[in-house]
This record gives sequence, structure tokens and C-alpha cells, in this order.
Amino acid sequence: MNNKYFFIFFLFLTSSIVFSQSAVEEKLKAHVTYLADDKLEGRATGSAGEKLAARYIVSNFMAEGIKPANIEGKNYLEEFTLNAGREAGKNNFIELTGVVPNERFDFFKDYNGTLIYPLDFSGNGAVNGEYIFCGYGITAPELNYDDYKSKNVKGKIAVIKVSTPEGGNPHSSYFKYIDERDKVKTAISNGAIAVVFINEDVDYPELEKDFSHNITPVEIPVIYYAKSFVPQFNKVVSIKISVELNQITKIGYNILAYIDNAAKYTIVVGGHYDHLGYGETGGSLYRGEPVIHNGADDNASGVALIMELAKEINASNFKNNNYLFIAFSGEEMGLYGSKAFTNSELAKKYDINYMLNYDMVGRLDSNKTLIINGVGTSPSWHVLNSIKVDDIKIKTTESGVGPSDQTSFYLKDIPVLHFFTGSHSDYHKPGDDAEKINYSGIESILEFSYALIDSLNNKGEIVFTKTKEDNNDNAPKFTVTLGVIPDYTFEGSGMRIDAVSDGKPAFKAGLLAGDVVIKLGEHDVVDLMSYMKALSKFNKGDATTVIINRNNSAQTFPIQF
Ligand SMILES: [Zn+2]
Repeated sequence: MNNKYFFIFFLFLTSSIVFSQSAVEEKLKAHVTYLADDKLEGRATGSAGEKLAARYIVSNFMAEGIKPANIEGKNYLEEFTLNAGREAGKNNFIELTGVVPNERFDFFKDYNGTLIYPLDFSGNGAVNGEYIFCGYGITAPELNYDDYKSKNVKGKIAVIKVSTPEGGNPHSSYFKYIDERDKVKTAISNGAIAVVFINEDVDYPELEKDFSHNITPVEIPVIYYAKSFVPQFNKVVSIKISVELNQITKIGYNILAYIDNAAKYTIVVGGHYDHLGYGETGGSLYRGEPVIHNGADDNASGVALIMELAKEINASNFKNNNYLFIAFSGEEMGLYGSKAFTNSELAKKYDINYMLNYDMVGRLDSNKTLIINGVGTSPSWHVLNSIKVDDIKIKTTESGVGPSDQTSFYLKDIPVLHFFTGSHSDYHKPGDDAEKINYSGIESILEFSYALIDSLNNKGEIVFTKTKEDNNDNAPKFTVTLGVIPDYTFEGSGMRIDAVSDGKPAFKAGLLAGDVVIKLGEHDVVDLMSYMKALSKFNKGDATTVIINRNNSAQTFPIQF
């Protein structure tokens, strides 16, 4: 499941029971246990661990006699490339001239416990010029405040303090100007050729140095030059700055196995096998030293299911469609694998009837509540209501757009479903391990899927329908986040928090998993939609209050985005 898209959808549920220790369950357990083993190091896209996972999945398809899809010379594998943030190249330094001797500091080196480094959104290149102090780099006409007043910054390097004239106080009217990227924009509009941020406030945190995410850089070098060096600037004549942050390109592989029934239409059954590695790829909700994220539920569970479902379909008499089983990579970094496939020449060879996506199906609860997203993508999905397997109770949402690979197919006008057993406190954290998986639950979902495919076997091509979300602007757009995972299965009034991301606004405010948000600022929160609408009213830096229900008592917390 992919974080970035997590908030787009919302849902409804119901409930159920199963127990067994079948041969299928044993197989599912073996798959998840292997894929979620530390040996695979969290299966980050492009990593050695992911290649081991790919080999395991391919071996299983081969062993079951399920052939590669028609990919010339690649034997089950479809290669694609993706951008994975940036990494430091050779030319990263700052040189101060006018001091004797000239002083040069290489970025990322430790100078008495202090690092100098480019910010994540820095542009590349080398500049050389005079510097000019520009205070906090803030122009705030409504506050009658302008750090650039009667300053000629053109062609110079702007030296700017982090924070604001009133510090980091979120209630200050200066607070909305605290963002470094905004300050750089202001500096550029004044003609600056580079920006050096300095930090004179002992209480103000160091700026983050994380280049693992994809970001659009600004056009000029931007560096952070920490507190202990600040006095140097008084004697310096000019500054040379060089920044080189190179794009990292990774190669990922989708795995495609095919059951060819010489039919007109093909059903795609998919699930992603990549995960977060050591948490370095940016989707991790864990803050701390890098540690393996095994991703048993996310998404060894889905891959185990599709491998066993492939076996059952192969042995079945469902011959009216062909079947393409795809284990996607690059999902966690932004649905790269499924996008690569749906945009490929290869995909054009198939007339895809519908797509079933399995992402996080390993935590079926004791009520047996299976969440199925995307039922609005075809009227034929009404058959779901008549499928009775192991007391599974389904809870459905309409939208074809969600935080996983079905989205890539939906956007090609293909009916989709996403099967999901709900989020939990181990979501995108190191605790998502194999021993917490409900294997009989996966088997129930497998049998449910088998029954679904059976019920559509004689129906030919099913009709695609667009879902509401994309023909109107009802979905609120928001730029801030609390840093929580909502409980999508919660049926009470409000937004129940399933997990709190370390270091994010909710965490800082002291909110806990289990808290139910009922009010954000002046906006009532009664469900996920109203929660998202409330979020959309705030901007980065805003401070407000959040009212939550904790153990049946309402409590108010100040919070800052
Ligand atoms: Zn995920």
C-alpha cells in the first residue's frame, strides 16, 4: 500500500469467522514467511532482497507450470526504471575567501559535530559571489516587515537565518513565513544566485537532510550552514558554493505469469511484492535508525494469495478468459510497476477484462471484514453481494482510485477491485511481521476471489464505469497532514486513529492510536470525508486545536501543521 495515496479514499464495512490448517494455508504461510524474512531486507525496489523475492515468485510460477507472459527474452520479468531521490556527487563544498587561509568545507563532513549540507530541494551547480545578510529572508507586507528592504541582492548569495523574528512560535503571525522553500523563492525573486541558511537559535532544530524522495529542485544552490560556523561570515569576502545531487535511477521488475486459454479477454490478478527496505525510501512511518521493514501484510500477503490463486485457476475449468498474474514492483515508491505495465506495449497485447488487486490481505479480523475498494468501476461487481465464503463480510467503496496498483488500471478504463483487510499499527513500520498474519484469513479471501471469478466466467466482457471522484471536485484537496493512519473500518462518529507517525503533527501534539478526532479547528469531524474537508482548510504552518475522544472523554490538544 502506498502512503501518498492513502487519504484519497474512504469506506464502509460489515463483518465474520474461519479456522483451519489446510494445505493451502500451509503454502500461504511458507510464502509469507520467506518473503518477509530478514534475509530479503524489506524488498526495496532495485535491492538485492527484492531480486531474491522475484526469484522466489518466478520459481513458484514455474513449479506450478504457469508460463511466462509473452516477454521476449525476459522470462517472466518486465523491466522498468524509476527515480528514487538524489544522492551526493563529488562536487559538494563551500569555500570562504578573504579569510586566511581560504577555508573550504566539504559537505556532509563532520566539523566539530556540525554538518554543512545542501537542502533536499537545492538546485545543482557552482556559484561564486559576494554574500549579503538578509535577516530571516521574510517579506511580509501585512506585518510591515521586509528583510529585503533597500537591499541589493541581485547576483549575490543570500545568507538567511532559519526561523522568524518571533522564533518558531506557531501562534506568531510570522509563522507562515517559516518554510525554507518559500524563503528561497523570495530570495530568487530578489535576484539571489544561491541561499545559505544559518541557524543562530540554539533551540531551533537542524534542517533535515534526506534526499531519498522525489522532489522538484529550485534553480539555485541552497545549503544549510550550521550554527557553529556562523561567526566566520564576518570576515569573509566572497563565497563559492558547489552542489551536486545526482538523480538515482533504479531498475525494478514486474513478474508476469500467464494462463493462455486462447480466449478474447484477459483477467489481471495482481499484487505488489516490493516494500520499504530499511525504511529509507520515504514511505516508512518509523523514525529512528534504519531497520528492516519486512512487509508481511504489505504485501507478502497479497503475493502469496495470487500465487496460490494462480494454481487453483490453472486447475479449474474457467476457460472463458485468459489470466495474467502480475507481481508488481515499485509500488511503495509511487505505483511505478503498475504504471510501467499499463503504459507498455506489452499491455496492448491483452484485452483486459478486469483487474483484481491484492494489497494487504493478511490481517482479516475476527469479524472477517473484507474491504473491497472499487465497486463503482463496473455494475457487474454487484455479484460480490451474493458470494458467501467462510462468513466473510464485505465492506465496499466505490472509487477506482486508491493507494495501490488498481489505480493504474482504473485510469485505463478497466474495471478494478482492491481487496484489503484494513490498516493497523504496524502499517509501514518494522513490526509488520509474518507471525502476525492471519493465514486462514488469506485463504478465505482466496476462495472468495475464486468464487468471484467463477461467477463472472460466463459473463464475457464486463462493463466499465467511471467512479464519482474523477468527474467532480468533491474530493477535498489538502496540503497538510496530521501524520496519522485513519481506521477505515471505524463506524462511529469521527475519525479514529489507527496509527500515529513519529515526529509528525499528531505525534507532537500527543495524539495516540485509538483516539477519535471529532473536531479540527472549528470544523466538526464525523467521518473520513469531513475529516479530509477539515484538513483542506489548513495550510502548512497553521496552528489550531484538535478535539479528540479518548476513553469516552473529550480532550483538546493544540496542534501545528
Ligand atoms: Zn505499503
